Amino acid sequence: MTDGVVPDGVTVFDDAIPAVANLDPGLLKALHQAARAAAPDGVEFYVNSGWRSPEYQDQLLQEAVSKYGSEDEAARWVATAATSPHVSGDAVDIGHSDATTWLSEHGAEYGLCQIYRNEPWHYELRADASDRGCPRMYADPTQDPRMQK
Ligand SMILES: [Zn+2]
Repeated sequence: MTDGVVPDGVTVFDDAIPAVANLDPGLLKALHQAARAAAPDGVEFYVNSGWRSPEYQDQLLQEAVSKYGSEDEAARWVATAATSPHVSGDAVDIGHSDATTWLSEHGAEYGLCQIYRNEPWHYELRADASDRGCPRMYADPTQDPRMQK
């Protein structure tokens, strides 16, 4: 688990798990605040993926190339270790669907924004979202200028 693999049932409060503990502190704080606000609605924020080691990211990319049949198609879903915001600790993939639904309605108040239209589970911190709302989403990661390295 040191490389960022997440066991089942991990929440944003499980900071003994490296995938959670190695997230950017600002992102983790926002996730905690949002999760506490959602708790009275019976919503828990599970972490399907958080921080990832470069090796783990490479492994996921290779698996995606096998699954989707080409590097171009895989790039719509999985970034390289050099570009993935998961490797830098700046992104989290949240489950279950009640949590992503809650975040789609309330996340911006906490600076938590969905970044890609094709990944409703992938959230990053955009600190000024509480004032200005979240930035317009990219259709998928290939549209994200950060991926053009
Ligand atoms: Zn993600």
